[in-house]
Amino acid sequence: MPNLTTPAILLRTHPFSDSSRVLRFYARDLGLVGVMARGVHRGASRGQGGVGTFAEGVAVISFRENRELQTLREFAPARAHLALGADVRRLAGASVAAELVLRHAGQEPHPQLFDSLSKGLERIEQAVPGEVIGEALALGWRIVQELGFGPELTTCTACGSVLEEEEMARFDLEAGGIRGPGCPAAEGSRRVGPVARAQLGTLLTGRVPDGLRGARAHVSLLDDFTTFHMLGGRRLESFRFLEPEADAGAEVPARN
Ligand SMILES: [Zn+2]
Repeated sequence: MPNLTTPAILLRTHPFSDSSRVLRFYARDLGLVGVMARGVHRGASRGQGGVGTFAEGVAVISFRENRELQTLREFAPARAHLALGADVRRLAGASVAAELVLRHAGQEPHPQLFDSLSKGLERIEQAVPGEVIGEALALGWRIVQELGFGPELTTCTACGSVLEEEEMARFDLEAGGIRGPGCPAAEGSRRVGPVARAQLGTLLTGRVPDGLRGARAHVSLLDDFTTFHMLGGRRLESFRFLEPEADAGAEVPARN
């Protein structure tokens, strides 16, 4: 059986028995991959020399086609990303990204997705408190885009006309994009003006726009959008913790 060596990010672990766990990695050269890790004791994933969620490093995997779980030979984390688990908003941002990748990434390599995830987790971890939400939005929308679900922002989803830069639009959630001023919008649909559209466009590239406005509305849109288009109607709990108003204060401590 060949051993494959690949950069990988640990997205989830499940206990399997007293001495083994199932680990789900997003691997740069394999895509999503589940592995059985033997000789890992319960509790070892939290600061006892084990490997925690979101750790990134190099995995050596004994790989066989058409097997549900591969065998992990070795995982050497280069970045433990422990700070992601120590703050609820950082953890929430990382968890949203992980959940979208676990749900929609395939078992084939998508190096740009891996690189976006890697860079985004690093940025969420290192952001100053006031920038955590922006970085979480940038990573979330970037992953939506990389997975092929990106919203339409330049053309009206109802009539196909291209919007003028200064025109007010509304967001048609079901259609997955904007509706121009000439087309009737669904009741209660969000207004997305020129600034919001431009800022959303920047977030989709994985960057935080200068002077991000309406962070709460952006979080709410990402929540509704992913729930409708990517999560089969089930909201991710993590969105509750992406609270922009806490930005002005100190770090929000995570519950253990
Ligand atoms: Zn239209």
